Amino acid sequence: MQNVLLGIDIGGTNIKIGCLDSGLKIIDKVSKLNRSDIEPQEMVELIVADCKKLLAQAGLVFAQVQSIGVGSPGPLDPKSGILKSAPNLKKFHNTPLREMLSKKMGKPVVLENDANAACWGERIAGAGSGGDDMVFLTLGTGIGGGIVSNGQLIRGTSGEAAELGHIIIYPGGRLCGCGQRGCVEAYASATNTAKRAIENLQQNNKSTLKKILETNGKITCKDVFGCAQQGDEFAKQMVEQTAEALGLVCVNILHVTQPQRIVFGGGMIAAGKYLLDKIQYHFDKYIWTIKKEDIQLCFATLGEDAGIIGAAALAREL
Ligand SMILES: [Zn+2]
Repeated sequence: MQNVLLGIDIGGTNIKIGCLDSGLKIIDKVSKLNRSDIEPQEMVELIVADCKKLLAQAGLVFAQVQSIGVGSPGPLDPKSGILKSAPNLKKFHNTPLREMLSKKMGKPVVLENDANAACWGERIAGAGSGGDDMVFLTLGTGIGGGIVSNGQLIRGTSGEAAELGHIIIYPGGRLCGCGQRGCVEAYASATNTAKRAIENLQQNNKSTLKKILETNGKITCKDVFGCAQQGDEFAKQMVEQTAEALGLVCVNILHVTQPQRIVFGGGMIAAGKYLLDKIQYHFDKYIWTIKKEDIQLCFATLGEDAGIIGAAALAREL
């Protein structure tokens, strides 16, 4: 009987579950809506029920499950398996999520920070494969990070290492969701790229973004990149600031662990080469001048599956 792994990616809006073979190939997967007010016990029961349904759908039985990997927003401690809190899961406070799931499933469970799990997925099966030193940055609502150094995920004393979105690049700058000022996330996440555009639009009547705001009542990061690529000067300026913040933080990261690759994931990478070239330009500007590092800036390749593949890969190591 074939052994399988379950990879679970808990998000504030969705819970994704994948059933994978021991080579980390996805056999089947499902995505269910999550609620920010869900109780921990209710979520555990839903996950267990969905796992069983998914296995049945794939013609498998629960006995075939070898182990389970879970990626969740944090802060959380992978050593104790405790989810300390999560901004998008209001009822979770010091919740022993790993133990709750393991008890209910009767299988070994590993709990990992969601960005770390996605980073590990890319490292094992995506853009970082074949290397022992990579850094992962997800560009979405916020900026998540993961670091693999010497082939190991860097977790820190209590599991909160690699909060790369909160590296301060402009002291006293824009207010970040973490309460501090000047974090890279406050400039270069998809959400904050759009927010910066809205804040600065007043003085830029000629920008197409002004019409978009009036018509749609909002501006998205996609709008900013779309207008920039069509030559809108104001939008180009907004993109430049995002790329400069990312280039800057990449140089700082380089000086910490000297990765072979810095891999970008998340919704913003839909902007493609246009974005990557601009980050590279600013990176080259701030990199030290005494030697040229052999480092590649590139995009993630697993898309939305990075979290479940990474969680399953961590489960495989149990
Ligand atoms: Zn911050």
